[in-house]
Order: sequence, then structure tokens, then C-alpha cells
Amino acid sequence: MKKFQIAMPQTIEQVTSILPAEKGTYYLLAGGTDLLGEIKDEIIEPEAVVDLKTIPNLSYIKKENDGVRIGALTTVAELAEDPLIKQDYPGLHEAAISVATPQLRNVGTVGGNLCQRPRCWYYRDSQTECLKKGGAKCFAYRGRNKYHAIFGGGLCYFVHPSDLAPALISLDAEISIATPKKEKTIPLADFFTLPKVNVRQENILNSNEVLKEIKIPPAKAGEKSTYYKFKERGAWDFAVVSAALKANVSRGVFKDIKIVSGGVAPIPWRLEKIEKTIKGKKVTEDLIKKAAREALKDAKPLKENEYKKELLEVILSRAVLSLA
Ligand SMILES: Cc1cc2nc3c(=O)[nH]c(=O)nc-3n(C[C@H](O)[C@H](O)[C@H](O)COP(=O)(O)OP(=O)(O)OC[C@H]3O[C@@H](n4cnc5c(N)ncnc54)[C@H](O)[C@@H]3O)c2cc1C
Repeated sequence: MKKFQIAMPQTIEQVTSILPAEKGTYYLLAGGTDLLGEIKDEIIEPEAVVDLKTIPNLSYIKKENDGVRIGALTTVAELAEDPLIKQDYPGLHEAAISVATPQLRNVGTVGGNLCQRPRCWYYRDSQTECLKKGGAKCFAYRGRNKYHAIFGGGLCYFVHPSDLAPALISLDAEISIATPKKEKTIPLADFFTLPKVNVRQENILNSNEVLKEIKIPPAKAGEKSTYYKFKERGAWDFAVVSAALKANVSRGVFKDIKIVSGGVAPIPWRLEKIEKTIKGKKVTEDLIKKAAREALKDAKPLKENEYKKELLEVILSRAVLSLA
């Protein structure tokens, strides 16, 4: 591992002023569960690491009139254990407890989880110079692509690894981003970008910007949410396919529903076609399966991951029926 400098700022303003405006070799460090792995595996070679943990007051879960605010340095464990999150946003609680292991949840942060880098095995192999690392091609496209994207691919076919992202987007979360000028607030759904926008990064953050806070609107009366995650094994694992749902159901009729899937695309993938079919109806297993099959016609599986279509259909129908 090459030596690097470490900065320990006291304020977020110091962070945005330390970070260079051009993408380079400065990296933000939160819990380090992803970043340190990337450094040790020589996927990245930082010149400097800027530690966010030395900034006070970036870890909190606060209930306010306009919703719940979550500081970027809140750990995944704190989110998972919070009684308010459990009660008002069960889908987010389920997503949080599905992340990694207790040790990783104790250290990994919510901000780091949303900004974590792809798990694609070609990207994580230091000897492979794929598109994401400035190379000329995506090796997964014609190579081993069992875990890769069935939606939104093109150029690069990784899947976004975060469990929290689909759950938070299904809850209409917004995020605040600290910049060298004014703080900006955007829907979390607009944070993630497809490879065709910029194949080297997964979100809209400029190199001198920091994800500061996540805000979830108050849960409405009658609103339910859930998170279904299919893993290849019982122990810790990333989602092969997942589905986050928020719905308003009255006597089995879906007045409203939002579905965001994980593990299927380079960004959390909204399934609007299925939402439209279900909205206003009393859902049966047949209806949801038919809706899922229709929506899955848009999928473009690679050689080894056609199976994800069937998996998605199954977890979607289980998740929708559980809310019904
Ligand atoms: C063995 C293992 C299993 C895992 N399993 C899962 C899983 O099942 N589900 C899942 O969702 N995740 C999983 N993860 C990923 C883990 O959840 C995330 O690594 C963790 O939440 C990241 O948080 P962190 O604070 O450690 O991030 P760090 O490692 O510190 O940072 C991760 C990335 O985000 C950037 N970053 C961090 N904070 C900010 C910020 N506030 N603003 C801008 N950029 C920022 C860093 O520069 C870095 O690129 C797993 C990781 C490991 C090692």
C-alpha cells in the first residue's frame, strides 16, 4: 500500500475547502468498511484521505415536523436499532438489518453505504483495468456476469450494492449535499447516475462535495413499507435481487404504491409499470405476477443472469402480497 496523507477536519466547511475541485486522488473516509478495502486491494491509490469522523454532530436521527433527519455519519446499526425507524419506516429497518454483519453495521455509516463503490469482480480486481478505472471496456459484458445488471446497463453492467438506497428512495428521501458554496438538497432518486452519464462514478457528487444528511418525509397514516432481499447464502451477503416497497393499502386495495429494486441495475431501479398496474386494485398473486412479467419484458439480461428475472418476479409478488 502506498503512503497517503490524512486530513482530520473539524467542520464540513473545512472538508469542502480541502477537497480539490478536480477529480483526483483525495478520498472521503467515513467508517472505512469499503474505502479501506479498496486501498488495501490497490483498487485506488489515494494521495490524501479526508476523515469525516473528526467532525462532530454528523451522527444523529432526529424527528422533526417535516420528517426524520439522519446525519451521514449515523451508523447502519444505529439506523437499524432506532425505535422510530422501526415503527414508522419498517422497510428501512428491514433493509438496515440486512446489511452485511453486526460488526460492519457498527462501523459502516449511512452516508458511506449510499456512496459505496461497485462490487463487480472486474472492478474489484486490481489487475483488471475496466471502464470504471479508465480502461477501454466492460469485462462483464462478454465475461462472467451472473451478478450483473438486467436493467440500465450499457457501457458498464455493475449493480448498485446498497440495501439502504432502494429503501430510502421508496420512502421519497431527500439528501443534503455540502458544497464549497451553498448547501443543496435533491431527491435521493436523482443522486444516482447511470454509467452512460459518467462511467467513472455512480452519483452526481462533485469531487469537493459531501453527502451531509438524509431526510425522510413523515410517514402518512395507513402507509406501510417493506424490504425483501434475496441473498445467495444465509450468512452476510449483498443482494442478488431486492425490492423496497412503500404502499397505502386499504382493505386489500392499493391506493398508492412505490417499488424500487436493488441488485438489478447500476442505480436503484424504479418499477413504475408494475406500480401503475397495481394502483387502485385489490391485488391477487396472479395480478402481481402478470404485472411483473410485463415489466420484466424491458429487462436485458446478459448471458449468465436471466435467472434474476424469475427471482425478481418471486420477491416482488411476496413483498406486494405481504403488504396487502
Ligand atoms: C464484507 C462486506 C459486506 C457488505 N455487505 C453489504 C450488504 O449486504 N449491503 C450493503 O448495502 N452494503 C454492504 N457492504 C457495504 C457496507 O455497508 C458499506 O461499506 C458501508 O455502509 C459503507 O459505510 P462506511 O462508512 O464504512 O463507508 P466508507 O468505506 O468510509 O466509504 C465508502 C465510500 O463512500 C464515500 N463516502 C463515505 N461517506 C461519504 C459522505 N458522507 N459523502 C460522500 N462520500 C462519502 C467514500 O469516499 C467511499 O468511496 C458490505 C461491505 C463489506 C466489506
